[in-house]
Amino acid sequence: MNDIGVIGGADGTTQIVVSGSIGGPILWIFFGALALMVILYAAFYRRGKGKAVCLASGGFAKNPEMLKKYSPDYADFFFNCASSMTGEGIQMGIDAGGYVECENRALPAFLSSYKSKFELAFIHQSAPGIMVNIKGDNIGNIVSDNHYTMAKAKLNKDNGDTFYYVFDESSAVKLRDSEAYGFNGYVAMFEKGEAVHYDSVEKASEELNLPNLADAIEANNAAALAGEPDEFGRRNCPYIETRDGLWAIRVDPTFYLTTAGLAIDTDCHVLTEDKKAIPGLYAAGDVCGSIEEKDAKQYGMGFDAALTYGYIMGETLKKEI
Ligand SMILES: Cc1cc2nc3c(=O)[nH]c(=O)nc-3n(C[C@H](O)[C@H](O)[C@H](O)COP(=O)(O)OP(=O)(O)OC[C@H]3O[C@@H](n4cnc5c(N)ncnc54)[C@H](O)[C@@H]3O)c2cc1C
Repeated sequence: MNDIGVIGGADGTTQIVVSGSIGGPILWIFFGALALMVILYAAFYRRGKGKAVCLASGGFAKNPEMLKKYSPDYADFFFNCASSMTGEGIQMGIDAGGYVECENRALPAFLSSYKSKFELAFIHQSAPGIMVNIKGDNIGNIVSDNHYTMAKAKLNKDNGDTFYYVFDESSAVKLRDSEAYGFNGYVAMFEKGEAVHYDSVEKASEELNLPNLADAIEANNAAALAGEPDEFGRRNCPYIETRDGLWAIRVDPTFYLTTAGLAIDTDCHVLTEDKKAIPGLYAAGDVCGSIEEKDAKQYGMGFDAALTYGYIMGETLKKEI
C-alpha cells in the first residue's frame, strides 16, 4: 500500500511526501506533480513580471446579462453600436477586485432610421424639420438636449414607439448634399427609399396614419413665423414649406452606449469598493463608464473622455513603471 500526501511547507514551498513501496505509478505521479509545479511556477513568474494591465475595451451595451444587472431599465432595448461592446474589460476589472459605479443612470439615445438603423443623430442640423409620434404629434424640442429628448421619446409609451422625421423640399435638397459625416452619407436615405416624398401633408397624414400631423406642422410654422419658441421651448423653429409636398423618414431613437463602469481615480487606477487602488490595474474610456456621471453630472461626451483619460493613463504608466 502506498501513501501519498502533498503539504505546504512552512517556508511557502511545497513538499511531496511519499511513503510505502515506490512502484511505477508512483514515479508517474511524482514526475506529473513535478511538471505541474514547473508550469505553476512559470505562470506565477510571468504574472509577477507583468507591470501593468490597462483596460480600454469599451462598455457593455451588447451584453444582455450585464445590461440586466447594471442598466435594467434599458435591458430590453436595441443598442445601435458595435457588437464588440461586450463588457469583457469590466468583467476583468471586477475579477481583479474592481467595482462598478453609476448603475442604471439615464442613458442617452440618438436618432436612427427605422429600417437600416442608419445614424441620423445630427439630421436636425443638416435638414431642419420636426419629429412626430404615432399620432403625428410633435415629440418636443429635438435641438436642445437632443440625446435625452430622444431617450425620453423612446421610453414614453404614449408615443407608440413609432416616429417620423418630417421636413420640406429645401431640407431634402440640403440632406442630399450634406457632408456632415465628411462624405455624403445621408444620400443613402434617398437611395434606400427610407426618405419618402408625399404630394401633400394630407396624403402623408393619411398614408402614415398620423391624424395630428397637419396641426403639428401648423403649430411649428406659427412659431417659426412669429420668431418665438414653440410650446416645447424650441427656438428658431424651421418653417416647413409644404407647397411641394412633404418628406418623411420613419425613425427610431436608439440607445447606443452604457455609462456604468469601473471606478477609477483621477490617475486611472482601478479602485476597489473601499476606494483603494488595485496595484498594476488601470482603465480608461467607456470601460469606466461616464466620467461626468462620477461627478453627478449627466453623460455628455464619451469620445472626449476616452481620449483624455487614455492620455492620463499613459502619463500615469510613464511615472509608475
Ligand atoms: C454610434 C455612436 C456614436 C457616438 N457618437 C459620439 C459623439 O458624437 N461624441 C462622443 O463624445 N461620443 C460618441 N460616442 C461614444 C464614443 O464613441 C465612446 O465613448 C468612445 O468610443 C469610447 O472609447 P473607448 O476606446 O473607451 O471604447 P471603444 O471605442 O468601444 O473601443 C473599445 C475597443 O476594445 C475592443 N475590445 C472589446 N473587448 C475586447 C477584448 N476582450 N479584447 C480586446 N479588445 C476588445 C473593441 O473591439 C473596441 O475596438 C458614440 C458612440 C456610438 C456607438
